[in-house]
Amino acid sequence: MIEIKDVYKSFGALEVLKGINLTVKNGEVLSVIGGSGSGKSTLLTCINGLEPINSGTILVDGTEVHAKSTDLNKLRRKIGIVFQQFNAFPHLTVLENVTLAPRKVLGMGKAEAEEIAMKQLTAVGLAEKAAVYPGRLSGGQQQRMSIARALAMSPDYMLFDEVTSALDPQLVGEVLDTLKMLADKGMTMICVTHEMSFARDVSDRVAFFHKGIMAEIAPPAEFFGAPQHPETQAFLSNIR
Ligand code: ADP
Ligand code: MG
Repeated sequence: MIEIKDVYKSFGALEVLKGINLTVKNGEVLSVIGGSGSGKSTLLTCINGLEPINSGTILVDGTEVHAKSTDLNKLRRKIGIVFQQFNAFPHLTVLENVTLAPRKVLGMGKAEAEEIAMKQLTAVGLAEKAAVYPGRLSGGQQQRMSIARALAMSPDYMLFDEVTSALDPQLVGEVLDTLKMLADKGMTMICVTHEMSFARDVSDRVAFFHKGIMAEIAPPAEFFGAPQHPETQAFLSNIR
């Protein structure tokens, strides 16, 4: 479980998160939507300890992410994160990209790492691309490789930050299908997304961020059917 309690976060004088309270239960899929600059990405980077926070607490399975005593490397192994821009190593094959962290971080042997990598590449539909270099993949395939790479670490949580935003429209579907497959398997996921059909059809709850505040959170039927906050209403009417 991920518990976010009264979290404030600033970059210098700029207050980016202004008292976020949010609990994501195991097996839950949360979609996070909101305008640019509302703090969505910052929240994800705070959850896995990439960014410090100013006050409040974030607990992952009861471990306080920002406590001095917390072993962040250990904690991060259970939190996979995939970003909008793919960052594969171009000189390594797809398989080598996926086995890298299990081998380097977990100290796994080559055979075991490759077995796990092939299992995850198969899950995202890329088994036949294992031997090629990332430069030969389409954007959608690269993004699925990034997901396989995160999954190869056997995370308990997955954070997705607009993973389809840089893709050509015809490639969005295959990546969303991969996210849906993970959701169906019971993965706990926080997905920052602009894909309203995904938010509506796949997530258990949808949160709306506005200027550093979580203005609204509700199950999709309620969220899209009867948004309460004026800013949510304005946001949704703009994208329809
Ligand atoms: P979102 O993902 O909702 O678009 P972000 O969390 O990326 O928003 O950013 C929230 C605000 O924080 C923006 O004004 C952004 O410019 C600022 N910001 C994000 N990261 C940094 C950083 N590393 N240093 C300074 N300002 C940042
Ligand atoms: Mg962002």
